[in-house]
Amino acid sequence: ITFASLDLDAKILRAIEEAGYTTPTPIQAQAIPHVLAGRDLMAMAQTGTGKTAAFTLPLLQRLLPHASTSVSPARHPIRALILAPTRELAIQVEENVVTYRKHVPLRSTVVYGGVDIKTQKPALMQGVEILVATPGRLLDHVESKNLQLNQVQTLILDEADRMLDMGFMPDLKRILTLLPKQRQTLLFSATFSDEIKKLAQDFLVNPITVEA
Ligand code: AMP
Repeated sequence: ITFASLDLDAKILRAIEEAGYTTPTPIQAQAIPHVLAGRDLMAMAQTGTGKTAAFTLPLLQRLLPHASTSVSPARHPIRALILAPTRELAIQVEENVVTYRKHVPLRSTVVYGGVDIKTQKPALMQGVEILVATPGRLLDHVESKNLQLNQVQTLILDEADRMLDMGFMPDLKRILTLLPKQRQTLLFSATFSDEIKKLAQDFLVNPITVEA
């Protein structure tokens, strides 16, 4: 299997090529077609398997119709929300998103706790299609009315097992109430515990399950 056979736009393929990737990893080969088809997904994948590209590449493809060079913030509502357990992971995910979106006019930023919330506001005010966030800081920005989540069409939970271990379940449930019911949800986890299965029941609709 090749990236070219995966129905990704030439602009996305160019970014992948420039990143030096030649072949999709197993989780990418399995997940990408289902994500492109709009299915909910439950993916069991460890760090290092290429899981970030497995959700980001098809996400960018699905957001392409909304790509816009307009400078108006109103033209750039948040359409994808990627939740990660830690600041380090959130930053790493955003770095990947920046790499893969290089040739398409889609915007992204990352918000996480431990830094002054005011420093994160300008990027949000400019408008971003893709927001990477840790759950607590995301809710702080919601409280401060720095962002709206009513146009989110894709929710991605990265390292969901770690988010549960860190006690984020109440925050995740709260965030869920702020999102449109009609959306795509992708859950990535290193383990498939009973708790993760319960989370999947609450968050996913008729999901495809893949394992790397
Ligand atoms: P992740 O599992 O998402 O943390 O990715 C692990 C590492 O693999 C990252 O440094 C990615 O840049 C890299 N990577 C992801 N997909 C591929 C691929 N198809 N070919 C080569 N490297 C990749």
